[in-house]
Amino acid sequence: MTTTPRLACFDLDNTLIDRDGAFVAWAEWWARREGLGDEAVEWLLTHDEGGFRPRVELFAMAKARFGLAAEVQELVDAYDREHPPFTSADSAVLDGIASLRTAGWRVAVVTNGGVVQQSLKLDRTGIGAAVDYCCISEQVGVRKPDPTIFKIAAARTGATLAGGWMVGDHPAYDIAGGIAAGLSTVLVGDHHRAAVTPEQAPTHHFESVLPAFQVILGR
Ligand SMILES: [Mg+2]
Repeated sequence: MTTTPRLACFDLDNTLIDRDGAFVAWAEWWARREGLGDEAVEWLLTHDEGGFRPRVELFAMAKARFGLAAEVQELVDAYDREHPPFTSADSAVLDGIASLRTAGWRVAVVTNGGVVQQSLKLDRTGIGAAVDYCCISEQVGVRKPDPTIFKIAAARTGATLAGGWMVGDHPAYDIAGGIAAGLSTVLVGDHHRAAVTPEQAPTHHFESVLPAFQVILGR
């Protein structure tokens, strides 16, 4: 008798990778290249909103603020290519993914974002090659918290959502979305603590993603 494998879903940014740390490193590099000082780095960190401000809006503001010559879309396209090289994955994260798959879990990244930037980050960090499937919202045409995106991940990996998990740092997207899909949930970090409502209450809350692997493995 064969049983359908269960699915463990993970958000990418600020869950499997330190997206905000990579943004700081990119901002320092970018400001130097543009001949701008620390003030530009501070400005970017202030207006980034953890990556949730639309990049077209951010770079339109940056163009006006710093008198940049390039068109806004050129700035956005360059950012999508130039930010991913600053990302990395801890070996413990890759080990955790491998241990889940060894134990029979299917593992999917479920991320809201653009195909170019997210694919480059998944390649750069090795996470794309480590998981069974990467579900990028722009590619599949649906975003967290819509439970459809988790159903797509289950279908593409041949897994069932029953008994599955969603691990992420955003209460409204990752946790509420996971709950809507019938998944148990782990909230990672405290990026968005102020936004937690009773409907977004996770099964567990940890400071990093690492304990989530142990919980899912049942240890
Ligand atoms: Mg995130």
